[in-house]
Amino acid sequence: MTGCAVEAVTVGHADGRDLVDIALSEALALVLRDLGTCGAPVPDVRDKRWSNFPGQVTAMLHDTDGTAQGVFAMAAESLPQRIASVADQVQEWAVEALWRAGRPATWPECPEHPNSHPLTAAVPEDRAVWICPRTGHLVNDIGRLPAPDR
Ligand SMILES: [Zn+2]
Repeated sequence: MTGCAVEAVTVGHADGRDLVDIALSEALALVLRDLGTCGAPVPDVRDKRWSNFPGQVTAMLHDTDGTAQGVFAMAAESLPQRIASVADQVQEWAVEALWRAGRPATWPECPEHPNSHPLTAAVPEDRAVWICPRTGHLVNDIGRLPAPDR
């Protein structure tokens, strides 16, 4: 089994030494893609070791207004588990960032229930997906949200 195909997405700075650990960046890349697809703010990800907990890899999510929030992944977890965990944390960041920008603070919005609630990250059968928290319906794989119809 080869696992999920993760396309190369640059996370962190390209100066060659400030790169976020792959266990975190490969999960983060998919969630950031969903942010971008949905037109939500996308954080500037910077490598920062803010925890000494064994096996925990960390970085910071920076917003354009200078605020920042930590994000982490457990290196020993499977990729789907890391993706879902990172999705939870990025969702928290996105809601705050949207709120600060004066925009509706729901991300990602549930396509079945507009103006109601965000989707929830879940890992059914080793697959990281967004589900509707009300119906439990699987909406899409994390990293594959479609652009909203406008
Ligand atoms: Zn829903």
